[in-house]
Amino acid sequence: MDDLCTDCGKQKQWTPCMWCRKPLCEACARFELLAEGCGTVVPAYFCATCVVDPFCNPNAIFWQMKEEDSK
Ligand SMILES: [Zn+2]
Ligand SMILES: [Zn+2]
Repeated sequence: MDDLCTDCGKQKQWTPCMWCRKPLCEACARFELLAEGCGTVVPAYFCATCVVDPFCNPNAIFWQMKEEDSK
């Protein structure tokens, strides 16, 4: 049995949220590049909840604006 995305519950899970580890499908995972130390960027995937939480994602403010626009 395939594990389903916990956000939409329809598609197969593809990657876990980097912060809360819940499984996400390709459509629901939010891609983010996190700056780490001296000029290194690390690719990361967040769920819809964590991506707008400044405690989880240092770039949350940009996502808050983006998610507002798409409403
Ligand atoms: Zn999904
Ligand atoms: Zn999450």
